[in-house]
Amino acid sequence: MRMTAVVLMLGLLTAAGCRETDDSHRRSQYLMGTVVTITVAGLDRDDADRAMNAAFEEIRRLEGILTFFSEDSDLGRINAAAGERPVGVSAETIEVLAEARRISDRSGGAFDATIGPLVSLWGFEVKERFVPPKEEIERARTLVNWRNMAVDPELGTVRLERRGMKVDLGGIAKGYAADRAAETLRKHGVSRALVAVAGDIRAVGEKAVGVAWHVGIQHPREPGAVLGSLKIADRSVSTSGDYERYFIKDDVRYHHILDPATGRPAAASRSATVLAPTTTLSDALSTAAFVLGPEKGIALVRSVPGAEAIIVDREGRVHVTPGLAGKVEGLAS
Ligand code: ADP
Ligand code: MG
Repeated sequence: MRMTAVVLMLGLLTAAGCRETDDSHRRSQYLMGTVVTITVAGLDRDDADRAMNAAFEEIRRLEGILTFFSEDSDLGRINAAAGERPVGVSAETIEVLAEARRISDRSGGAFDATIGPLVSLWGFEVKERFVPPKEEIERARTLVNWRNMAVDPELGTVRLERRGMKVDLGGIAKGYAADRAAETLRKHGVSRALVAVAGDIRAVGEKAVGVAWHVGIQHPREPGAVLGSLKIADRSVSTSGDYERYFIKDDVRYHHILDPATGRPAAASRSATVLAPTTTLSDALSTAAFVLGPEKGIALVRSVPGAEAIIVDREGRVHVTPGLAGKVEGLAS
């Protein structure tokens, strides 16, 4: 299901990104559990290939550090030492966790990187899906609290205060990887590129002089259809939705974005798209805005300089920040 959504989205990206006959080169790799597509314009094939290889390599390296699924990753070691001791980690891990903490503060905990115990309980990563018993949801929920994650940039350590706590960077790591991949491309002489780590997208420069990159936003209920499209240059856009990883039981849709306040899938939105100066920010903010829903989500995004949002609420109504009014192409309502 997830694969299909990603491929459809990339199909839309392709359709939207290639309107001009162009000199761009595009390649995809499967990394961080999803499809990563990089498009480079304005370079010959060999130079573009070298740059793209380095960018894919950077994402692979970050995946090794930030994955939830390995005991040897920084995250695996932090989680294994929960309630026991601080763990020395890489500068990258400190950077992502410090940003995650800032967004947790700003969002009143709607975004919380210590969501791990709930993610494991709901088991969106395994085949057998079921609604966990209330008591178990409550028990996991008490372990989720970003204030109990101490990040020390000076010492380069992270400590989870309580046994059983778990950090999961699913809501921010893909955005961070997109930013780092964009930096790598720049170091390799690229000044026009689009990096898409699934729905976390970073535009480097414009596509061509005076021509922005076009990014289609997946419609949350019509597979393969766009809700609207955005033009971006030197900016990032991320979408969080309830249509990518979910199961339906007794007519209720259970999906992978959890509300730390209830311990259950957040119910206020169908999708949240956020534009921001970095993809780390757009990724985390889109998850937070999704959880908060249209009113609080729009208010949160408006409080962040350079950020804009499009939120589709649970009834399918579309809400946009004032800065985006009239700027989303093809948006019906
Ligand atoms: P996607 O991973 O589909 O791009 P998101 O960026 O919204 O979507 O991230 C969702 C992932 O983030 C979940 O799979 C989970 O790992 C994690 N997550 C779920 N709920 C939250 C939350 N409230 N705060 C932070 N991370 C979350
Ligand atoms: Mg996100």
